[in-house]
Amino acid sequence: MDVTVFARQHGVTLQWLEPGKRFQLKGNGASVEFEVGSREFAINGARAFLGEAIRMPEKKALISRIDAERFVGPMLRPSAAGPAPALRIIALDPGHGGRDSGKVNPRLKVSEKTLTLDMVNRMKPLLEKQGYRVVLTRTEDRFVELAERAEIADRAGADLFISVHFNSVESGAERVTGVEVFTMTPQHQLSTDQNPDSQASKANPGNLYDGWNAVLGHCLHKAMLDDMKVPDRGLKHGRLAVLRLSSCPAALVEAGYLSHPDETRKLMKPAYRQQIAEALADGVRNYARALESARKKR
Ligand SMILES: [Zn+2]
Repeated sequence: MDVTVFARQHGVTLQWLEPGKRFQLKGNGASVEFEVGSREFAINGARAFLGEAIRMPEKKALISRIDAERFVGPMLRPSAAGPAPALRIIALDPGHGGRDSGKVNPRLKVSEKTLTLDMVNRMKPLLEKQGYRVVLTRTEDRFVELAERAEIADRAGADLFISVHFNSVESGAERVTGVEVFTMTPQHQLSTDQNPDSQASKANPGNLYDGWNAVLGHCLHKAMLDDMKVPDRGLKHGRLAVLRLSSCPAALVEAGYLSHPDETRKLMKPAYRQQIAEALADGVRNYARALESARKKR
């Protein structure tokens, strides 16, 4: 789709920053910067990844229709995300548990499953204070199947699903830090890692709210960057089981690297985990505002 048409559709202005190379869309309090030939772009200063690179075969820059309609459009203008779903019950999903420790830092003797549970216990009262009912997919150090996590949220009638994780890398452990956020890959698109997967052609439950997933993912991602001042690993798409099976808007956050010694030491501090929890609660507040503005515009 022609980006000038896309810009007009959303009431934003298109400006070339480097003719034929980089352009900006600005309006409705949002700003997006794209680069021709690249999947990576910036939305309100945060990194994000398109399903397909911006192309410019001739004089017109093109964005894929799926990216335009299900990802960037809703982030520019939430009312383009479709009817605003309710927001009363929030499911928080602490990654891993029981025999599944998740990522571990053996030297500092800390595992992901312990930190994720601590994180949701910090987030719960913050979200309750905002007026939501909060359900947890586990409340103790117990193994829970991925599909069961989505079922627990479903049974509770959750309107929002947030899965909390911590990251690790094999190579570059001394270097890589920061946060990244995943939302479900839209149907017929490649995930950010570009590995073709068997689920791509299916309409998964997690695709019911592609537009709202984008809004939610951006709100959580941006709030973490603003509040935590950490390196930005990007807003990405993946067909991760809990996202694929979620029947409400959902996101998975990776809030830091257990492979990095200094970042792990930071994550081991309760005050820092509280800061992350507060950032995520701020993200939910901004998502709620986006729902509200979309309800008014329809
Ligand atoms: Zn994990």
